[in-house]
Amino acid sequence: MKLPFKIDLNNKVAVVTGGGGVLCAELAAALAANGAKIGVLDLNGDAAEKTAAQIRELGATAIGVSANVLERASLEAAAERVLKELGPCDLLLNGAGGNHPKGTTTKEWYEDGDLDDKSLTTFFDLDPKGVEFVFNLNFLGTLLPTQVFIQQMLGRSGCSIINISSMNAFCPLTKIPAYSGAKAAVSNFTQWLAVHFCKAGIRVNAIAPGFFLTAQNHKLLIDEKTGEFTARAKKIVEHTPMGRFGESRELIGTLLWLASEEGSGFVNGVVVPVDGAFSAYAGV
Ligand code: NAD
Repeated sequence: MKLPFKIDLNNKVAVVTGGGGVLCAELAAALAANGAKIGVLDLNGDAAEKTAAQIRELGATAIGVSANVLERASLEAAAERVLKELGPCDLLLNGAGGNHPKGTTTKEWYEDGDLDDKSLTTFFDLDPKGVEFVFNLNFLGTLLPTQVFIQQMLGRSGCSIINISSMNAFCPLTKIPAYSGAKAAVSNFTQWLAVHFCKAGIRVNAIAPGFFLTAQNHKLLIDEKTGEFTARAKKIVEHTPMGRFGESRELIGTLLWLASEEGSGFVNGVVVPVDGAFSAYAGV
């Protein structure tokens, strides 16, 4: 695979949750291409194994593990397998995350008459279960793997954690209050963890991707009938000064910089936007 630069991850073990997904499959492969052995964890065991197999085809070492980031027992079983087959985890990339339609409103703003239109999901129709699902997946789904895998890092040097936040953490996007709040919690938790584990020598940082077309947002951004950008996708591109969506390979450089002790050894508790200047632009 094409890398922006190389770092030395030889003899390191990286665990990537959500590694069967679009962004994290690519990020896992990038870590492998720099020498790390990879534990690819995903709720979808087949997807985890697919990513692991692709990494092995590159000549690197990887195992696919079916694991649920919301179940401690499932994570402990995964951690045991990683330890036995690859060695203790040096780098945890908390990539599992996403939104849910039940935590999403139909319209951007509330307007008179909305309450009478039963076809709409208004703010008042948001399902607490849907909101809870999104909060759990993104926040607890970062906290629980950290609780489990950080135990393999304690007492060793050069270990770090990289979380995946979002633009929504800086400024909430319309329609998706649950996802925005949950990713804000991930950014905040990144800072908290960085401070809490400072004396243990474990760095904790996050990447906040801007907008990348993937399976999780495909329905919101691509019109199923025409295959063209939806109004929302057009709005995102208009609000991105660089005028386009990001490509997953454009996250690799930031990941490698944060993963490299030599490159970012004094960088701790930051959330790095990779967003084509979306978060810098006020829209005027
Ligand atoms: P994706 O849906 O392709 O990947 C997410 C993966 O997480 C899937 O393989 C899914 O099976 C897995 N997963 C879901 N629930 C899980 C669970 N309980 N336990 C273990 N694995 C589980 O999404 P993606 O776009 O590649 O997103 C990866 C990360 O990046 C997510 O945290 C997402 O919120 C974040 N993100 C994405 C974008 C974007 O534009 N795509 C922007 C900002 C942040």
